[in-house]
Amino acid sequence: MDGILTGKTIVIMGVANKRSIAWGCTNALIEQGARVILTYQNDRIKESLQRFVPEDIDMVECDVAEDSNIELAFQKIGDKYGKIDGVIHAIAFADKDTLTNGVLNTEKEGYDLAQNISAYSLIAVTRYAKPYLNNPASIITLTYFGSIRAIPNYNMMGIAKASLESSVRYLAQELGGDGIRVNAISAGAVKTLAVTGIKGHSELLKMSKGFTVDNISVTIEEIGNVAAFLMSDLSTGMTGDTLFVDKGVHLM
Ligand code: NAD
Repeated sequence: MDGILTGKTIVIMGVANKRSIAWGCTNALIEQGARVILTYQNDRIKESLQRFVPEDIDMVECDVAEDSNIELAFQKIGDKYGKIDGVIHAIAFADKDTLTNGVLNTEKEGYDLAQNISAYSLIAVTRYAKPYLNNPASIITLTYFGSIRAIPNYNMMGIAKASLESSVRYLAQELGGDGIRVNAISAGAVKTLAVTGIKGHSELLKMSKGFTVDNISVTIEEIGNVAAFLMSDLSTGMTGDTLFVDKGVHLM
């Protein structure tokens, strides 16, 4: 079927299981005709993916904790596919103590780790993907409203997301001349593995649902559809932006 992404090859980073936002993106992109390549963090995640990802989807290991891993992953992708048309970065991490102890008690190590994996990795991914990106190309990342509001228990991750959104704007400015646009989707709360690391996540999900315009939480399919639009040439006029895909939660 021809779709808005027919002929495009997109790298998707951050599928852990069928609940992952990146999996919603994967299905939406395929639906629109894209060829996708998934990257996974480690062997444990690879095993999980092998249970449900169709065999014709290529998977490449990439733990973003080290720049050299990111460089190698994109080299492998470039060697095999030549040019690519975009990257979806759906990766975040903070250790449990850092997430639960509150911002005041955040220690340097936990701060650095959360910033490194959740924000700096977008910069490194963009740098190592750049030699293989077509013109036009699109990069998106996933963020959350806790970057601009003090959401209970979101703590260090809110600080990392603020940094991530700022990185989006600076990268968009720097890469515009190469036809590479960089945007973020600020997704509403969805029950994924990452969210279960947040203290009181059931209350957060309930509160978020209550703030939607129709009392129905956003789905990974709905987030994926916006990702497909941002990966397509329909969005060549947009860069450096953060789009809310949260069923109106940010209005409250
Ligand atoms: P998820 O747990 O399904 O995905 C998180 C992914 O990050 C996993 O695939 C994990 O392997 C990957 N990851 C963590 N550390 C990594 C590393 N060192 N190297 C490579 N990959 C690593 O959860 P999700 O909710 O789908 O998260 C995807 C993105 O969406 C995250 O950036 C998250 O902050 C963001 N987000 C989530 C929500 C939500 O409510 N779930 C809302 C807004 C934004």
